[in-house]
Amino acid sequence: MSDNEFPVTKFFGTDRRGFLRAATGAMAAAVAVPAFAQSSVKPNEQDDVQLSQIHASTEEPEKIPGPMEAEDQRTGYAIVGLGRLALGQILPAMGKSKYSKPVALVSGDREKAMKIAAQYGIKQSAIYNYSTYDQIAQNPEVKVIYIVLPNSMHAEFVLRGAKAGKHILCEKPMATSVKECERMIAACNAANVKLMIAYRSQYEPYDMAMVKMIREGKFGKLKQFISTNSQNQGDPTQWRLKKSLAGGGCMPDVGVYCLNAARFLSDEEPYEVFATTVQPKDDPRFAEVEASCQVIAKFPSGFTAVFNSAYDAHKSQFLRVEGTEAYAELNPAFAYHGIKMKFTKFDQGMEIAHEPALEEKDQFAAEMDHFSLCVQKDLKPHTPGEEGLQDQRITDAIYESARSGKPVKVSAPSTATRGPNPAEI
Ligand code: NAD
Repeated sequence: MSDNEFPVTKFFGTDRRGFLRAATGAMAAAVAVPAFAQSSVKPNEQDDVQLSQIHASTEEPEKIPGPMEAEDQRTGYAIVGLGRLALGQILPAMGKSKYSKPVALVSGDREKAMKIAAQYGIKQSAIYNYSTYDQIAQNPEVKVIYIVLPNSMHAEFVLRGAKAGKHILCEKPMATSVKECERMIAACNAANVKLMIAYRSQYEPYDMAMVKMIREGKFGKLKQFISTNSQNQGDPTQWRLKKSLAGGGCMPDVGVYCLNAARFLSDEEPYEVFATTVQPKDDPRFAEVEASCQVIAKFPSGFTAVFNSAYDAHKSQFLRVEGTEAYAELNPAFAYHGIKMKFTKFDQGMEIAHEPALEEKDQFAAEMDHFSLCVQKDLKPHTPGEEGLQDQRITDAIYESARSGKPVKVSAPSTATRGPNPAEI
């Protein structure tokens, strides 16, 4: 197979051009790099500069817009929870996004929020705490609320956000039970706002390329998915190791990447899972949650997924998809940066491996821009609440299987769980 067989433009050619057309059309006024990302000026309402008026009083007065009032069509986000993900990935990604900008913060720590607000050009009047959060309803700049809190808090803050009339982007895992997920979907439907779960891998170029290659038949018939997502936890007091805040251990936090990838790559839903968990008695980190989880999932076509996750093993992130005519690996998979693909097939009597080189994109900017476009164009997001609900159903079945030692059936979703392909919006 020659390099030309899978050129970068072939993966993204039409879709990327379509995307750029959209960018230069209705969104022409959007700016790629927001002013706050380029400047050290700390804009807030008190700091607005006004120049003296030089025209006669019969003329319309001139107004110098504040930095965040620049005429652009970026969708305004409120970030709820200023922890590692919000500060390390989401807010920095705003500087790389075309259609999304931060306009409000929700935090229990006002001093921290004021520092971040100054850094990102967010008005001090747009800083809320967990009690005043509902007042966000009165802030017209906020169109989307992005929930970046511990897992068990997602449901409450999605429900309150929907009641405030805002669209919601919620971190994975969606919640800690099927009931919560169903309530979140119902509340967003009742308030007529959109709900998207932040499955960033589904907006990542190599994952998207693999989906495209699978749908084009380049693997033949899909047979197996093999994956792992592990990391070694330190601090035993952190919320990730408390069942009431996390909902579980490694499975809902990192194992969910493997589970979700098996589903979106195959475009099938598992009907049965068989799983084990390990909770070492002599390790104080795992008094409440599992340290590792091993899963076999069966799909109707005969495709199977085998995946492990761990909180007590060195960081390791990998996936492989095997078909009748080819297989491909992402190694690392699920990482923020540096994802690599190797595609191997038997061609004209030879096994040929190919490593496509795709341009790395900030996955958080890509997912936020997708959601902003869905809000602006009134479209269903690619990873709506239903996608998170199905992962939660399967996670519950995984835990039940680990408890009972038996395979557990999973009910299929009643409708498709994914909206249009992000590359086509
Ligand atoms: P974190 O602990 O760094 O931040 C959590 C934030 O919630 C902090 O600001 C903390 O002060 C606040 N908080 C409010 N009430 C709290 C309470 N009772 N206990 C603990 N913290 C409380 O966590 P994080 O890594 O930013 O994770 C937040 C969410 O993002 C989780 O749902 C996690 O699964 C998800 N996440 C997603 C990715 C991804 O790649 N998409 C990566 C990391 C985390």
